[in-house]
Amino acid sequence: VSAPFSYVSPRQSVRFAFGAAARAVAEEVAKLGGQRVMLIAGRSELAMAERIAAALPVVVTFTDVAMHVPVEHADRARQAAQKARADLVVSIGGGSTTGLAKAVALTTLLPIVAVPTTYAGSEATSVWGLTEGDVKTTGVADAVLPAAIVYDAELSLTLPRALSVASGLNAVAHCVDSTWAPRANPITSMYAEEGIRVMAQSLRLVVADETDREGRELALIGTYLSAVAFSAAGSGLHHKICHVLGGKYNLPHAATHAVILPYVLAFNASSAPQAEVRIGRALGLSGAVEGLLALKEATGAPTGLAEVGFDPANLDEAASAILPSVPPTNPRPVGLHDLRLILEAAYEGKVPR
Ligand code: NAD
Repeated sequence: VSAPFSYVSPRQSVRFAFGAAARAVAEEVAKLGGQRVMLIAGRSELAMAERIAAALPVVVTFTDVAMHVPVEHADRARQAAQKARADLVVSIGGGSTTGLAKAVALTTLLPIVAVPTTYAGSEATSVWGLTEGDVKTTGVADAVLPAAIVYDAELSLTLPRALSVASGLNAVAHCVDSTWAPRANPITSMYAEEGIRVMAQSLRLVVADETDREGRELALIGTYLSAVAFSAAGSGLHHKICHVLGGKYNLPHAATHAVILPYVLAFNASSAPQAEVRIGRALGLSGAVEGLLALKEATGAPTGLAEVGFDPANLDEAASAILPSVPPTNPRPVGLHDLRLILEAAYEGKVPR
């Protein structure tokens, strides 16, 4: 028996189309009535994006994609959309690319067809993020949820092993953090548990062989499940920590998540026994922290903040910057000292206690 709760099912068309992204995207664009397409893709994904978009009525292509969506990039992209009188955005790339499309949609209300090529999961959330100077701001808006997602695992075959692992652990982090997030409920917990299970299975396959089709397809299913759980349940402590670290120190998003997650899990686990059971079960071990550490070890994931370029001189400043955004729903109280200890242990890559 659970407490009363509400859950809004995301209104999106979600397609899995191995090797068939071009056709699936064209069908989704046509369904949405898109006649003047803005194509957003980072420079390294441009050739792939142009192949997928070859038959689309593209009126402008925007390639100025950067991590954490700096406001200057968002402004330039919005101006480009307006100047070209675009009526729909097709984004092809990782979370940074989807994030830029969302920034355009936030002010122009243009629909998005998202084609993700990493496991960030932004395509299935209503969360947008923008960075001004060293401050990253996130918000939630219906307008930024892509109208359609086309998952084509063939496009992720080129994602290098280390990035695949870090990005996959970003998806696992969506699941873990959603279990104690402000709007967690039995439905989001179900998505989260299955998301962890599928993601863990897929990462082991991808690490053994980056070209493994089953591993790549499962990873995208896990990505979608994780993003639905995260979008509906909201951000927990883990995301608040990673947002500050990412925005303030420009650390790589996915790898930072991969490093921080076991420390937040170890901090919360004993105060969130149901979540602990679910996470441990999904990882195939009775202990959640042990399960996560075993997955990280098996996949060669980064273990310390030193590895992602964090300067230990910033430990105090980072802890103070995180404190005001600690969610009041966290299963145990979090003080400045706790944050300092979490960051310090994560910096050194110590086994989390
Ligand atoms: P990213 O989009 O910056 O991509 C990382 C790197 O991978 C880039 O160099 C990119 O060129 C490369 N890449 C992408 N796809 C590739 C492929 N198929 N083959 C080879 N290389 C490829 O990183 P990310 O981790 O996907 O996304 C991080 C961003 O997404 C952050 O800004 C984060 O805040 C945001 N994000 C937002 C949400 C949300 O719900 N709004 C969720 C997760 C992440």
